[in-house]
Amino acid sequence: MEYALLIDGQLVAGTQTLEVVNPATGKPLALAPRADEAQAETAIAAARRAFPAWAALGYAKRRAYLETLATAMEQRAEDFARLLTQEQGKPIEQARGEVGASVAAIAYYAEQELTPRTLRESEGERIIEQRYPLGVVAAITPWNYPLLLLVLKMAPALITGNTVIGKPAPTTPLTTLLLGEIAASILPAGVFQTLVDQNDVGALLSGHPDVAHVSFTGSTPTGKKVLASAADTLKRFTLELGGNDAALVLDDADIAQVAPRIFAGATTNSGQICLAIKRVYAPRDKLDALCDALAKLAGEAVVGDGLEQGTTIGPIQNRAQYEKVLGFIEEARGQGTLVAGGEPVAGEGYFIAPTIVRDLPDDARLVREEQFGPVLPVLAYDDLDEVIARVNGTDYGLGATVWTSDAERGIAVASRIESGTVWVNRHLDLPFDVPFGGAKQSGIGRQQGIEGMEDFTQPRIVNAALS
Ligand code: NAD
Repeated sequence: MEYALLIDGQLVAGTQTLEVVNPATGKPLALAPRADEAQAETAIAAARRAFPAWAALGYAKRRAYLETLATAMEQRAEDFARLLTQEQGKPIEQARGEVGASVAAIAYYAEQELTPRTLRESEGERIIEQRYPLGVVAAITPWNYPLLLLVLKMAPALITGNTVIGKPAPTTPLTTLLLGEIAASILPAGVFQTLVDQNDVGALLSGHPDVAHVSFTGSTPTGKKVLASAADTLKRFTLELGGNDAALVLDDADIAQVAPRIFAGATTNSGQICLAIKRVYAPRDKLDALCDALAKLAGEAVVGDGLEQGTTIGPIQNRAQYEKVLGFIEEARGQGTLVAGGEPVAGEGYFIAPTIVRDLPDDARLVREEQFGPVLPVLAYDDLDEVIARVNGTDYGLGATVWTSDAERGIAVASRIESGTVWVNRHLDLPFDVPFGGAKQSGIGRQQGIEGMEDFTQPRIVNAALS
């Protein structure tokens, strides 16, 4: 299949090409068009030109466009899912889930509307808060959920009246390009565009004076660069960054029930989820039982090509990340006890068997840093105050989970964790109407919910004396 960029309503070639590798085979999958700076400038200018008319359309007309887009995507759902598995690696059922959620997100946002709020109303005065769109939005995404993370930016930005340029990670551009191809015959020119780069156009977008908002999801170090480049023009931004989410198992938890859910939370999408469980704390007298249960689940996992029937864990998405995760395992081998995994998996792809590590010190790299792979440290604790301090003892603050037989007690413990989201007895529940975002160095701003839509708008107070 030929892939093209969507710039100013036209499907065009890049000035160069980029080889996209299938992580399950380590072999080239496709050539993607790669944009240069001039094409990025053309796209920004087109987005700016398209903005006034799109903003003036109003919610009802924009809604119709988004509904048409959602329907067209749904008709190509299986193409999207197969392409997603091939470029990203996740098992096909998880890819179908991501595509289904992406279609649902567009349909959901199509129905939403930000309405003015009356702050004061009397005979003598009326004070109203209105919201108007910002202009050109750059939606910069990582490689773990390339389609869903794009749509979760694009749909709320478009419905509130902004125009959007989508820029995927260089290793997963294909589903973004397919979305652009579909949007080309539905949305007016310049309203949505796609640019593929080799990590070189993102900085141009985030520093550009004609880009009004950067909605960035990616690593904390790159997020800091985006923040720095936004300073010059005081542009608006949303930063969804890395995490090191703890799972805290309370002493009343039923290990047999909790273990599979912790295992899934740590290994879904091969652990490449910002909100994945990245470290586990268990009461000392439950540590053996939990490690045994997790090791058993790890042994039962089927690691392989996501297109193959029965695969439960696909490859790591790219070679650099694969080597990084192997490095975490080698360091952990020297400092703790591997109770599952840790050995290479046969095949040319970037496969890593789910690996469970215990007896690590708190300052081990696998405990302190974000591994972003299916490698899970399990740590013992003796006292609740002590473990909450350890859970909070990180610069990250994206998510966390608390596992208990007593939900009320779980809520009380959750209320002491410094994090953007804390789940009790569930995980990765992210309804579109509930905002999420990071505390500390896990991010600034919110996505989803009304707050996430408001992030794409400027509040304006209209303050009138009536008499
Ligand atoms: P990354 O930071 O390397 O890249 C993310 C995107 O930024 C890519 O599109 C990249 O091309 C672009 N980019 C690179 N340099 C840039 C610059 N100077 N200016 C602007 N854009 C630039 O992240 P990654 O390795 O692709 O993704 C993994 C990370 O993403 C993990 O840390 C993970 O936790 C995080 N993540 C966070 C969330 C969240 O919602 N908080 C969700 C998913 C992933």
